[in-house]
Amino acid sequence: MSIGAVEAARNILTRLHEVMASRSNAQAKLNTVVEVIGECLHSEVCSIYLLREGMLELFATRGLAQEAVHVTRMAVGEGLVGTIAEDIEALNLAEATAHPDFMYRPETGEDKFHSFAGVPIVRRERAVGVLSVQHVEPRRYEDIEVEALQTVAMVLAELITNADLIDEVDYSGVGSGQTGPETLRGLTLVKGLASGVAVYHQPRITIEHVVAEDTEAERQRVILAFDKMREQVERMASQAEFGVGGEHEEVLATYKMFAYDEGWTRRINEAIDSGLTAEAAIERVQQRTRMRMRQIDDPLLADRMHDLEDLSNRLLRIVSGQLGTAATMGLRSDAILIARNLGPAELLEYDRRRLKGVILEEGSLTSHVVIVARAMGVPVLGRVRGLRGKVREGDQLLLDADQATVTVRASTGMIDAFDTRLGRSRERQAAYAALRDVVPVSADGKRITVMINAGLRDDVANLGLTGADGIGLFRTEFQFLVSATLPARERQTRLYREVMEQAGNKPVMFRTVDIGGDKTLPYLRHNDGDDEENPAMGWRALRVALERDGLLKVQARALLEAAAGRTLNVMFPMVSEPWEFDAARAVFDSQLEFLRSRRKRVPEAIRYGVMLEVPALAEQLDVLAPKIQFLSIGTNDLTQFLFAADRANPKLAERYDWLSPAILRFIRRIVRNLEGQAVDVTVCGEMGGRQLEALALIGLGIERLSITPASVGPLKAMIGKCDVSAIREAMEGWLAAPPENLRQVLTSWATERGIVLD
Ligand code: PEP
Ligand code: MG
Repeated sequence: MSIGAVEAARNILTRLHEVMASRSNAQAKLNTVVEVIGECLHSEVCSIYLLREGMLELFATRGLAQEAVHVTRMAVGEGLVGTIAEDIEALNLAEATAHPDFMYRPETGEDKFHSFAGVPIVRRERAVGVLSVQHVEPRRYEDIEVEALQTVAMVLAELITNADLIDEVDYSGVGSGQTGPETLRGLTLVKGLASGVAVYHQPRITIEHVVAEDTEAERQRVILAFDKMREQVERMASQAEFGVGGEHEEVLATYKMFAYDEGWTRRINEAIDSGLTAEAAIERVQQRTRMRMRQIDDPLLADRMHDLEDLSNRLLRIVSGQLGTAATMGLRSDAILIARNLGPAELLEYDRRRLKGVILEEGSLTSHVVIVARAMGVPVLGRVRGLRGKVREGDQLLLDADQATVTVRASTGMIDAFDTRLGRSRERQAAYAALRDVVPVSADGKRITVMINAGLRDDVANLGLTGADGIGLFRTEFQFLVSATLPARERQTRLYREVMEQAGNKPVMFRTVDIGGDKTLPYLRHNDGDDEENPAMGWRALRVALERDGLLKVQARALLEAAAGRTLNVMFPMVSEPWEFDAARAVFDSQLEFLRSRRKRVPEAIRYGVMLEVPALAEQLDVLAPKIQFLSIGTNDLTQFLFAADRANPKLAERYDWLSPAILRFIRRIVRNLEGQAVDVTVCGEMGGRQLEALALIGLGIERLSITPASVGPLKAMIGKCDVSAIREAMEGWLAAPPENLRQVLTSWATERGIVLD
């Protein structure tokens, strides 16, 4: 903004401040506002149109016929005023009649005015009215004058909201640039349907005060906020604060560039000089950038724009002290969460009863946030490009994660069709729930063990709901992820004891903490502050636990004490070589010794297991097998290592198929190598929870699966129809001479045999 605009705006704001503080009613205030603006901008006409009952109504004017007030009304999109509201964009015309959208309203007596400038009055990113000025003389308004109008429009937005002049319902959906239904496509991460309302993980701030009392104080607030924001951005680099993914680096670089952009700080300071509060100044600058960017149709730039939005929102939150996420700010009961990406700990903060769905701009099938969502039973749609530009806080959404779509501003017909699908999906779920007491036995009489994955106390209830055979994978790190500090031993013991008690006589395989990779703990300094280039292949899981052996000792004690008098099943994640198992086992042995020396009660039996996630371990199974009682194949990590494809990188999310001969042959080899040994082999990665993949695994000789609870019903249904010896034979043939598309071949094989795939 130039000096002239700053002064013009400040002059108007000072006078508006007095108007707003006065005790007159809202209409009288609007009447004064048009006089003040008209005078300050030397404009013959100044008018305010507000949205009422879906129409833009002339609420106050200086210069047009007073009889037209509350009489002249136009639809959004109609005439110049309607166009400004629809596009949420300013118009500045030397000759109004020359514009194709011009529409003459005789009752206003506006025919003598040639020039016209108007700006939208915006609330929550939507136009709720229009402020316009007109001149007899045909000349364009100067940019500085339009700037001043835009600043004034912000003040007006505050005034009309406080005075309840617009109806909240009336403006929903108006002026978003698009009013019809829009369906966005993404990638199914967790299946399911949900209808609800968009809630941003990091909510937009509602600005309470627009006009500043003390400009210098506002400047100081912005300086402090910038300092804090820069600190946060620097810290993100070491903590992966905003989730995970290969795009992380790029985003961070852009964040840094914006955080230190002098142009940005300068523009905010100028807006403060014109009389705005720090919050309003940040928002004002953001609005201006948004409008400018809208004219540039470049998807790459649009992405960067979201980064700036994120940062601007962050700055707003710091300056206004509203720091929480939607999880901590009173979540509505039909929330569909919108975010670029989330960390697992961030998602765990949400109340699962209120969270109906999650939509991410990034995300991949086996990232931990998605595993957490699956465990929470919440559908997730990922990889939705331009999500945050198209969906706004409060939008009604139809999320169809089965079909990988989300619909915004749905028509009645769409809502009806969706409700029908929702009803059918509920019926299907009810049918699966009815399989609770059905024992998973194949058509040819083979008993398949179907267990569930869990991680939180509440998850254990799923054992009863699904009738599963046990918990094949209890991810103990979830307790660490939801805690603000390292959970003390007593808390760990209590959780493990409660889980075992609730599970009754069904087994629970506890996996010791798998921290690192995309599961970082803010309170556990990682790698002594050194950034890891490849955290998934870095210092994680058992590698951390063995080095920080205090961590493993405490957990071993907690597990041994919790399992007093019972059988303890414990397994270690990310074992790469047999000695790592020995070292971990030694920690348990010494804790057991300690408990015995204190005459404490110990478990009746301890069964040890390992997760097979690192391909190297498969080469040493002969060494390891005699030492363990069970082995669990973690296909999430195993496939990322087999394919050298980061499981959390959204760009690789669809690249490799679980039904690839490489994976299937690899698993078959493990099964064969362990044949005849007293080692139970289970698959506990996400692969096993999908019907077709589970069928393939059974074909490889796998008889034990540990899966997400929602998959138990669908798997029981599939198993009941499956002929195990037939699929084993077919699989032998396919793996000997792999068909081009094994997925397709397997699907036809299943359908021909009456196996209904969901
Ligand atoms: C796996 O890697 O397959 C697994 C089950 O462990 P997590 O997903 O917790 O890494
Ligand atoms: Mg794993």
